[in-house]
Parts: sequence; structure tokens; C-alpha cells
Amino acid sequence: MDYNAWFQCSEGCAETYPLSDVIYRCKNCDGLLEVRHDIEALKERSSSEWKTLFEQRYMRTQYPYGSGVWGKKELVCPNIDDDNIISMYEGGTNLFWADRFGAQLGLGDLWIKQCGISHTGSFKDLGMTVLVSMVNQIINQSGNIRAVMCASTGDTSAALAAYASAAGIPAIILLPKAKVTREQLIQPIANGALTLSLETDFDGCMEIVQRLAGRQDFYLANSINSLRIEGQKTISMEIVQQFNWEVPDWIIIPGGNLGNVSALGLGFLMMYDLGIIDKLPRIACAQAERANPLYRSYQTGFTEFSAITAQSTQATAIQIGNPVSVHRAIRTLRRFDGIVDQATETELADAAARADRTGLFNCPHTGVALAVLIKMVDRKQILPSDRVIVISTATGLKFPDFKVAYHDVDQGEPPPRYLNAPIELEADYEEVLKQIGMHLDT
Ligand SMILES: *Cc1c(COP(=O)(O)O)cnc(C)c1O
Ligand SMILES: [Zn+2]
Repeated sequence: MDYNAWFQCSEGCAETYPLSDVIYRCKNCDGLLEVRHDIEALKERSSSEWKTLFEQRYMRTQYPYGSGVWGKKELVCPNIDDDNIISMYEGGTNLFWADRFGAQLGLGDLWIKQCGISHTGSFKDLGMTVLVSMVNQIINQSGNIRAVMCASTGDTSAALAAYASAAGIPAIILLPKAKVTREQLIQPIANGALTLSLETDFDGCMEIVQRLAGRQDFYLANSINSLRIEGQKTISMEIVQQFNWEVPDWIIIPGGNLGNVSALGLGFLMMYDLGIIDKLPRIACAQAERANPLYRSYQTGFTEFSAITAQSTQATAIQIGNPVSVHRAIRTLRRFDGIVDQATETELADAAARADRTGLFNCPHTGVALAVLIKMVDRKQILPSDRVIVISTATGLKFPDFKVAYHDVDQGEPPPRYLNAPIELEADYEEVLKQIGMHLDT
């Protein structure tokens, strides 16, 4: 069976372009491009045949189909030859049953999709494998791309650098100086990318990289490029597959540039079109209060949207004031009867720390989503019997300063709610026993 996909203008003018073109916006109307699939060809397989195929491949060893992304290749990007695929066995991440945390909130069916347990530590790997594989194919066929590049809040750059170096393609990374963690900064450096640290914020880096993208020999890897979205949409497919093809009631996802929430929606809509599922979940997009342009738009019923200057937040990966995918995100939220909510710095840090007490180790962005979860439970928007998935976007191990600062006794009054500071004492048996006694008894 021959499957096909192409770029198509998302603003309704219906211009199409091959996926091998170096193009990000419609030449007619400047609209964003999205990847469209030949759905009729895909429908020739029944939904049960698709499910069987996906089950046969999932997390097995036949390269590249064991990957959570390439196991769904026909639905993601059928146009890439297997020989050109650069895969690091992305996807297949744990769906963590948050039994204890859920019980504290009165929920019996709460799950955390651990997208950060991945090669470079965030969900960005899912999209980057598709994009870099396409670039690899273009280079192998015509050879005139000199480098891939991106602006990043720290995770896109890590993913791009890893996949590009595996492919042997030069990578150029634009980062806002001092606004990513040490762990995120060292990833592209270690992978040999040209790493440029700019005196600006993410939105400032994005402006420059978009100008560089005017050149045909530099390939833009930001999520304005819909190939990334195609890989990321496998998050929804994987969640449903992990529940034996059942659809949850709510999904809560942190949003910055808003590509991921759009990808989440696309994955569900595609499964719906193919009859793999017969209903849609509701989606909640969670923003940091200090970088909340979508939340503000939601307050107007999405009738208005204005870019803002994002304030500094611990949730650095979503410190974005001018999200490139805002229109597709709004379309998604409308379709999924979605909501947008926000979390303050204290709320996001407390929520992350509280969940950590039940066995997790959350990044601040996941903290934003967990804080929104708590609010939705409090106002009974989420009911005790609802099946809820929180998308954890990165591993907490990339954000140690966030945790160290939280558990630092010296940070002033009032102390954080879930503070657990280490106790320094002499190597003395009686002293140690006394401290243990004091803490176990309280
Ligand atoms: C990129 C990223 C996000 C936000 O995803 P968008 O597609 O920009 O909305 C959230 N959390 C982490 C850890 C990220 O790296
Ligand atoms: Zn157009």
C-alpha cells in the first residue's frame, strides 16, 4: 500500500508543497503549513488491523519500528525511506500510575505520562526524530542543506543536537543566555553543535532564527515546522495504546510555544478519523502565570490574542510570550472542549514537590500541569471517577537547581510547604538516633 503526506496551508487556501521542500509558511498567504495525510488510503486498513500492527511493533527490536514514533510510521511520515531514518528508540515512555498522589487528591485513576524519560530527557525527541530524518533524506537526495538550526528554551536544542550529530549533520543552536539550566546547556555543547548564547529571551532568539530561515541552506527545526508536530502527536496514540485503546477523560499538558498541545489534539483526531477511537478526551492547557498569553486569550473566549513579554519563571521551557502555534492551539482547544489555566511560581513549585513526595521527580513544567490539576479537582471540574493523564514534558534531572532551591532551609519565610532540608550533624551514633527519633515521631 502506498501512503502519502504533504505540507498544506492551514489558513484555508489549500496550497500544497512536498515534505522535502525547505518551506515553513505558505507562499500565497504566509499561513503556517501543516502535514496532511492521504486519509482515504489509511482507511483501507481497518481500525483493528492498525491496532494489531502497532501492537506487533511496539517496543520490539525491528529497527526503526520499535520506536514509539516509527512504530506508527504510516500515520506520522510515510514518505521517509527506512534507510534515512535517524531513530534513538524514542517514545514508549512509562505511563506512571500516580496511585498515591491521586488518592491524596481524591482521584482513583490518575496517570503521569513520563515523556521526559527519553534519550535527551524531554518529549522533544519525538518530533526531532521525524524532522532530522527528513533532513537526512533531503541531503541524501539533493544535498544542499548545510545545517539544521533552532532557537530553544533548552530542550529543543538538546534534541536537535543529539539527532543531528547522530546523522552527521551540523547543528546551530540559539539559546537565551542564562535562561536555560546548566544541564540543558551542556547537551548541545557535548554533541558538537555550534551553540550561540544570545543576550535576549527565547522570543528574541526566535526572531533571529526566523530571519536565518530565509536562507535555503539552513533548515529550521522549531515547531513552526510541522514535521515536529507529526512526531509529537504519537503521544496521544501511545497513551491510548497503553490503555488498551481506551480514551481518557482529561489530559493536562503544559504549554509554551503551543506546538505540543496542537500535536496532542492531532493525534487524537487522526485516530478518531481512522475509527481507532470513538470519542475524544477533554484537554487542559497549563501555563505559568508569568508567561500566560494563551490564558489571557482564553479569558476573552479566544476572541482576542496578544503576544506579551514573558516574565521570568522557574518553568523556563515555557517562558514564551509570543507562541508560534497559538492559532493551531486555539483550534485544538475549541475542538476538544478544552480549557486553559495557570499556576503561580509558588503553586507550581509546591505541586511538583508534593508529587515528588509520592515517588515522582518532576520538572517545573510538569509542576505547572500538576498545579492546574489540583485546581481543577478543587473546583470539581475533574471528578473522582475521571481518568486523568498529566503530560510530564521533561525529567526533573534537567532542573536540579529548581529542586535544590525549594529544599533550601535558608530561603526565608514562610518555608515551602513540602520542604525537606538535609540535616547536618556530627558522626555520632546517639545524635543520629536522636534525630531519627525526632523525625519519625512527628
Ligand atoms: C518545549 C517544552 C514545553 C512546551 O511545549 P510547547 O510545544 O512549546 O508548548 C513544556 N515543557 C518542556 C519541558 C518543554 O521542553
Ligand atoms: Zn496559504
